Amino acid sequence: MGRYTGPACRLCRQVGEKLFLKGERCYTPKCAIEKRRRPPGAKAVSRRRPSDFAVRMREKQKARYVYGVMERQFRRTMETAQKKPGVTGQYLLQLLERRLDSVVFRLNFAKSRRQARQLVLHGHITVNGRRMDIPSFIVKPGDVIGWGSTVQSKDFVKEVLVGAPQRPMPSWLSLDQATMTGKVVSVPEPADLDMKLDTRLIVEFYSR
Ligand code: SF4
Repeated sequence: MGRYTGPACRLCRQVGEKLFLKGERCYTPKCAIEKRRRPPGAKAVSRRRPSDFAVRMREKQKARYVYGVMERQFRRTMETAQKKPGVTGQYLLQLLERRLDSVVFRLNFAKSRRQARQLVLHGHITVNGRRMDIPSFIVKPGDVIGWGSTVQSKDFVKEVLVGAPQRPMPSWLSLDQATMTGKVVSVPEPADLDMKLDTRLIVEFYSR
């Protein structure tokens, strides 16, 4: 599955707000949005009010950028959410949060979702004791997320563990500091979700 490998800050500038894609740098004055909020490229900024389509599209793009998901996979996730009874947008966010790379990030094993994805892809993460190298793997309650056996010798992982910012842990995950393993306690509740994303607009975008 392809993925965006360009500058993360460009994505924030494209949607005009901070998406916190780069770890600590996002909290410093070096953040590209703090320095210049203009969209990337030489184009003049339009002063026209954006259309409804543009607003919905922007919200969908924001969600994609935050979770690092390509269009086709995002659409598939949306189709899965649409088949479930209940609030589609809420279930969509649940599915995105339950991705293994997102869980690794939430457990503070990585500074950013990008780094979490790399840890998973490189086979450093286990689920229930078995190596799992698929970032889009959806965890379920009871799953235990840990480190592979070779990982402690890797300098970059030691650096990650020491340097990872201690973000507040959502209540649907628990962490055993001694063994550095995390457990999925339940599925994320609406209060645990990043509600800065307006899922109503995303659902409307795909309901055209
Ligand atoms: Fe976005 Fe972080 Fe770059 Fe700021 S530093 S523009 S929040 S990725």
